Amino acid sequence: MKEDCIFCKIIEGKIPSQIVYKDEKIIAFRDIHPMAPVHLLIVPTQHIAQVNDVTVGDECSMGHLFTTARLLAEKEGIAEGGYRLVVNTGNQAGQSVQHLHMHLLGGKTLSVKLC
Ligand code: AMP
Repeated sequence: MKEDCIFCKIIEGKIPSQIVYKDEKIIAFRDIHPMAPVHLLIVPTQHIAQVNDVTVGDECSMGHLFTTARLLAEKEGIAEGGYRLVVNTGNQAGQSVQHLHMHLLGGKTLSVKLC
């Protein structure tokens, strides 16, 4: 846990959020500024700042991000229609929270523009 990290505070229950899933490795909650009808953030409970800090030892929890994304896409009813998974890394990608997270976006036709 990192003292000044907003997602660590959510994981510890110190600030409120709309949690939709939680287990020992992962938490998922609704984005506070949704960009689509379904916009979830899937976050490892261990504080990893960004993809550049991921190591071989994190492979299990990184894989778990994807299986949880799949599960939540089904639960939210967007699996069949399609959805987008996004992991912003660093300033030029627009990463604003320095705790690795995967965006799960869906529920409408998403723009095909990537940049
Ligand atoms: P990124 O720009 O990829 O770092 O994404 C960070 C995301 O976290 C943004 O989409 C924010 O809207 C979202 N966010 C920031 N603070 C909160 C919060 N307290 N609860 C839920 N989502 C948040």
